[in-house]
Amino acid sequence: MEDTVFGKIVRGEIPAKVVYQDDDVMAFLDREPNNPGHTLVIPKKVAKNVFDIDEASFLTLMKIVRKIAPAVRDAVGATGVNILMNNEPEAGQTVFHAHVHIIPRFGNDKMKDFPPSKPVSTHTEEETEEIAERIRKNLA
Ligand code: 5GP
Repeated sequence: MEDTVFGKIVRGEIPAKVVYQDDDVMAFLDREPNNPGHTLVIPKKVAKNVFDIDEASFLTLMKIVRKIAPAVRDAVGATGVNILMNNEPEAGQTVFHAHVHIIPRFGNDKMKDFPPSKPVSTHTEEETEEIAERIRKNLA
């Protein structure tokens, strides 16, 4: 299996705004968020996407998605979230380590093209860290 940038994040080789982790799952802020608080939830065990992830890993992943979604929503004052998984390039997958997007939605957001073609958020490093910290607190 090809090594990916998410494998490097799991191993701590490159930085990420990690908001949650346990033995099996890690969640961190997307580097190019479509809305503030855009979070990626990944299995630590390498799998490319829905087509090769084992059932237990997928169920564990989705259990954590369910746990994290309200923490993400509340951290940025969103009223909804999109939960999305891209599988294979034709479906928009660009990082080939399975991951689920949690994208906060706001009544007045401009995210009409879904998934959007380019990042929307323009947060500074400090603002991004504040969002990550609010999610961590909501999970504590
Ligand atoms: P995909 O299109 O594969 O479903 O989504 C991959 C996501 O990973 C994109 O939203 C992209 O912004 C995000 N991403 C790519 N490289 C990195 C990285 O190095 N760090 C973080 N935090 N997110 C990344």
